[in-house]
Amino acid sequence: RHQTRAILRQHSPRPVAQPINPPLLRESEHLTAWTPESWQQFQAHQQPNYTELQKVTDALETISRLPALVFAGECRNLQSRLAKCATGEAFLVQGGDCAESFSQFSANRIRDSFRVQLQMALVAMFGGGVPVVKVGRMAGQFAKPRSSDTETFDGVELPSYRGDIINGQEFTAEARIPDPARMVQAYNQSAATLNLLRGFASGGYASLQRVMKWNLGFMDSSDKGDAYLEVAKRVDEAIAFMVACGLDENTPIMNETEFYVSHEALLLPYEQALTREDSTTGLWYDCSGHMLWCGERTRQLDGAHVEFMRGIGNPIGVKVSDKMDGGQLVSLVAALNPDNVPGRLTVIVRMGADKVRANLPRLIKAVRDSGQVVTWVCDPMHGNTECVAGFKTRRFERIRAEVEAFFDVHEELGSVPGGIHLEMTGDDVTECLGGGASVDEGDLDSRYHTHCDPRLNAEQALEMAFYVASRLAK
Ligand code: PEP
Ligand code: MN
Repeated sequence: RHQTRAILRQHSPRPVAQPINPPLLRESEHLTAWTPESWQQFQAHQQPNYTELQKVTDALETISRLPALVFAGECRNLQSRLAKCATGEAFLVQGGDCAESFSQFSANRIRDSFRVQLQMALVAMFGGGVPVVKVGRMAGQFAKPRSSDTETFDGVELPSYRGDIINGQEFTAEARIPDPARMVQAYNQSAATLNLLRGFASGGYASLQRVMKWNLGFMDSSDKGDAYLEVAKRVDEAIAFMVACGLDENTPIMNETEFYVSHEALLLPYEQALTREDSTTGLWYDCSGHMLWCGERTRQLDGAHVEFMRGIGNPIGVKVSDKMDGGQLVSLVAALNPDNVPGRLTVIVRMGADKVRANLPRLIKAVRDSGQVVTWVCDPMHGNTECVAGFKTRRFERIRAEVEAFFDVHEELGSVPGGIHLEMTGDDVTECLGGGASVDEGDLDSRYHTHCDPRLNAEQALEMAFYVASRLAK
């Protein structure tokens, strides 16, 4: 009740996301009590300008009464797994759509993305000889930060698409009006997605033999195809050996896997409505997803997103580009993880292939010198976006070059590469160029389906996993 009232309090007097004049509480941060709505005292970037305020109130009230999507105990388990990723005793594979969408919601797509993510995990696990923590960008990845508030096409200027939880992708004035009811639809789709993922993860779909039915077509033309084929053969042999030992399909370790979900905690009123007090610990968890991250555009130390994230008990991530400097990162880490809890904070580096070698070392050194523990993860997608033939795309070779640089820098500094964060799908799309499967410029318009950024297709994603495995094996 307290929560609902708090949400109502915000929405009745003024529109959500209208920049409020913040009384700059940040200066006395440690004297300020965190509450699920304390972010409202800070400036929230990248929020929609809702016009129908009653509908906002209604949607948030509905969501605040609906069940949590994930549970605090699950979030704590994930946090302990991520703590292992920080020390090299495990490795994170995090992947999924840039933006989930209402129109492409289907059981088969979820299944195919899940299967490729398990295959990637298996390859990485074999290469690294450590457990792989599997986290989907799924069941809640709907809200998108945009570099511009408007988009112009054929001389017509409209508000930007901000993800299906906010407005429609169609280029019409009507579709681009933010509709609060979309939050309820996003919640419902997240619930159905999570239900299916939980079923796949525990109901036998994740059996190793099924996961092994992979499509290795890319190997024929990949520059590293022979080496990858050798690894694939060895994985097959290892599984055949385990089966011969009696670990067959009925053995739980073959049948079950832990799979977690994550998204960018961008649309703060929605995240607040799903923030619940855990009855066993008294802590607050954002129960919209196991892991939430703060994007590159909303990670201001004095902003609303950092304020919200610092108070939730979930493991959290923060994206950082080459624009970040060491001192700033140390302050941000201290704000988000003041007790220096291992696994609590993942720093997701997304600089672009050319910038990692020059800019990542100072961040690693600054964090290390401050004694802070973070899990370092590489997002090789967001710094390598370019426009080719009118399409927003990314080259596989640049993506791989960023992963390579990330591993090299950690090797040189003796720090730990803790995981990889990819935009990918289980479908055979043509959104990113290159890779063994050789998508070329002329292919871009054949199966370009993403609602936002270009994703690796199933073969490109798997090829990336083989590269990661080769680095983990060193
Ligand atoms: C994203 O992950 O889709 C995204 C927008 O990332 P970033 O905040 O790193 O730009
Ligand atoms: Mn993206």
